[in-house]
Amino acid sequence: MQTASEYLKSLDDGRQTFFEGGRVTSIPDHPVMGTAAEWVSTSYDTFYDPAEGATSPILEPPRSADELRERIPQLRRVDIVTRTTFGSLMAMLTAAARLQGVEAARSDNVLAYRESAALRDIRITECITDAKGDRGLAPKDQPDPDAYVRIVDRDDAGIVIRGAKLHITGASFGHDLMVMPTKRMKAGEEDYSVACAVPVGASGVKIINSSYAPRSADTRHFPVTSREHMPDGFVIFDDVYVPDERVFLAGEGRYAAVFAHSLGLWERIGGTSAMAEQADLLVGFAHLAADANGTLKYSHVKEKIAEMVIHASLIRAGLEAAILHCVETPEGFVHPNELYTNAAKYHGAANYNLMVRHVHDIAGGVVLTAPTIGDLENEETRAFVSKYMQGRKGVEAEHRLRLMHAIRDLTADSHGGWHSVTNVQSGGGLYAQRIVSSNHYDMERARELALEAAGITEWAS
Ligand SMILES: Cc1cc2nc3c(=O)[nH]c(=O)nc-3n(C[C@H](O)[C@H](O)[C@H](O)COP(=O)(O)OP(=O)(O)OC[C@H]3O[C@@H](n4cnc5c(N)ncnc54)[C@H](O)[C@@H]3O)c2cc1C
Repeated sequence: MQTASEYLKSLDDGRQTFFEGGRVTSIPDHPVMGTAAEWVSTSYDTFYDPAEGATSPILEPPRSADELRERIPQLRRVDIVTRTTFGSLMAMLTAAARLQGVEAARSDNVLAYRESAALRDIRITECITDAKGDRGLAPKDQPDPDAYVRIVDRDDAGIVIRGAKLHITGASFGHDLMVMPTKRMKAGEEDYSVACAVPVGASGVKIINSSYAPRSADTRHFPVTSREHMPDGFVIFDDVYVPDERVFLAGEGRYAAVFAHSLGLWERIGGTSAMAEQADLLVGFAHLAADANGTLKYSHVKEKIAEMVIHASLIRAGLEAAILHCVETPEGFVHPNELYTNAAKYHGAANYNLMVRHVHDIAGGVVLTAPTIGDLENEETRAFVSKYMQGRKGVEAEHRLRLMHAIRDLTADSHGGWHSVTNVQSGGGLYAQRIVSSNHYDMERARELALEAAGITEWAS
């Protein structure tokens, strides 16, 4: 296994990664990228085991509903790239199980890759979303054929891919990019049916990073994002050679959807688990803000908080149902239930902005304008900040300040904007979750109930 410092050194592999117009020559030494790398490195030390052949327990596939239930909150406590590593590996295993018997060699490649990734203790990011060009056109009909990642050449030992994958969380901070098709591919789109693992440092890979990280010198004003933030990558594959043993799908068009759906499932259970925690955090923010402001007794405030409690509890219930009704693969791994995962993810994402509105409504404008801790420390302003930031008697002005900073940092600053969009789009937009939920819902039973209630015994087919 790798230690934190070995991980940080491993990023120096010649990777071509860019930030706001410049090439990043050393990720650990970069003012924004460095803190993100530091965050990823902490999980290395947490799980390090020097024993020969040891592997990280956090990345082991769960084999029962209980193990899945235990793993999901554990993953919330680690950095986001360790989470995408788990998601990538589980998606590949879920896909391998579905391919077994029909594409045995590809399925074996997945199993061998997973074992080697675990032994090398590498981090992997999920590269699914293509540039997509004109959304109204299929991949093969795009004016630019590279709008979706595709195979442009092959030889006896591998393939060459070209295209770009966009919005890839933590792309510059992993060792491998797990490329998968974004959707089902049709006849004539075999070259777009490609899944493979590409080293970040491979020739032809370039990554442009974007980040919501705070740029303030006083990081106390950003209590959450100064410690935990992760740039998203715009990943370019400019004719990248991928050897056969790293290829999991290369032209078998009918299986493209297997990969896309498997990853969607793991992304959405991760998103649901994140939103379950987030919803409880928002309830806590709303309750503390009302308490600090002295408004906890008012009925409209209580009603908003009660609505938030119901929202948080329903996401948690969906998460629990997805775990309890998990499905076992032939290899003995489990994956979450599709219907409950998608329905819970949809419910959480569709209502997130309303819950944030309640927090902002309850907390007041001070969410945006609370002076900094630096202003509280300044001799010239300290007394005034203390005096006028006082809310309900007994709650210290400094605590009210810190609470408002945390609410702003998570919901109303650049990270807040990032969350609003990410909750809707991660794991595919709301539309994708509506489709998958409908596909897995027992519509026949619902129709039978309705027919029975209406006293109709026969219905035209
Ligand atoms: C912060 C962040 C992190 C992310 N991390 C990752 C990651 O790590 N890996 C990864 O692969 N992806 C990642 N994503 C991408 C995410 O999965 C996509 O944003 C999402 O799938 C939507 O794709 P899009 O952004 O291209 O939007 P679009 O596909 O353009 O969708 C915009 C709207 O158009 C609609 N639409 C588009 N095409 C059609 C069509 N043919 N028919 C009907 N309606 C259509 C959609 O339903 C949606 O309502 C991330 C996104 C964000 C914001």
